[in-house]
Amino acid sequence: MVITIANQKGGVGKTTTAVNVSAALALMGKNTLLIDTDPQAHSTISIVNNPEQYEKSLYDVLTNSKINIDAITVDSTIPGLKVAISKISMAKLESSLLGEIDSHYRLRDVIEPIIKKYEYIFIDTPPTLGLITLNSLVSADYLIIPIQSSYLSLEGTDDLLETVTKVRKVANPNLKILGVLITLFDKRTNIAKDVLDRIKEVFGDKIFKTFISKSVKLEESPAYKESIFTYAADSIGSSQYKEIAKEIIKRGKK
Ligand code: ADP
Ligand code: MG
Repeated sequence: MVITIANQKGGVGKTTTAVNVSAALALMGKNTLLIDTDPQAHSTISIVNNPEQYEKSLYDVLTNSKINIDAITVDSTIPGLKVAISKISMAKLESSLLGEIDSHYRLRDVIEPIIKKYEYIFIDTPPTLGLITLNSLVSADYLIIPIQSSYLSLEGTDDLLETVTKVRKVANPNLKILGVLITLFDKRTNIAKDVLDRIKEVFGDKIFKTFISKSVKLEESPAYKESIFTYAADSIGSSQYKEIAKEIIKRGKK
């Protein structure tokens, strides 16, 4: 199944979630691929050794039908987890595909031939609602929306949900919201509680039961090219992301 992780706000934990959830599933023995679509390539940089050694990236696959996604799919530092790598060239995608009639369907067409190879395919997206994120929504069975539990965190979710409605209508009627993930949670602050009440009003039982707390270990692990499960196996972030992986498996079966 294909699960895209999107929220056009930056810094809400999309990449941290993409990396650690796909690592959790891979470490449970599930064949897992993480597709990095963000020109900033943070997922790629976080868990691929020397990504600069690879010449091509997802950009080349999306703009040249002769190049297969396998050509840019590489081993990560996590056993069982592969990454389809991004590079800054992804920033040119929108202008390169301008006027192409299938511009919104490129990623779906690229994933289609390899879909059976993996139990889980996650897509990390950039902080915009542009062509790249649209491609990822068109390609996906499910959407996970990470929301930071802070003031103004719901700003923009209307636009995201409107986009989801449009994508369903025009291109992908199967797209379902798998869950809303509360990230960077700090239960000591009053503001977190107020914000949480608001998020509950909007999303109700779409919210995953497990919240991801603010944790320095989660912030540090990418610098060591590790997931939280090896970098700080006994940390709160490690147990919370493991729980989220279990919730994802359960919700995906329904
Ligand atoms: P996005 O991909 O949505 O822009 P990131 O996952 O890159 O967000 O997170 C933004 C920043 O916050 C990064 O520096 C990341 O390491 C940090 N971060 C993410 N989740 C947490 C967390 N639960 N606790 C502490 N820092 C976090
Ligand atoms: Mg990111």
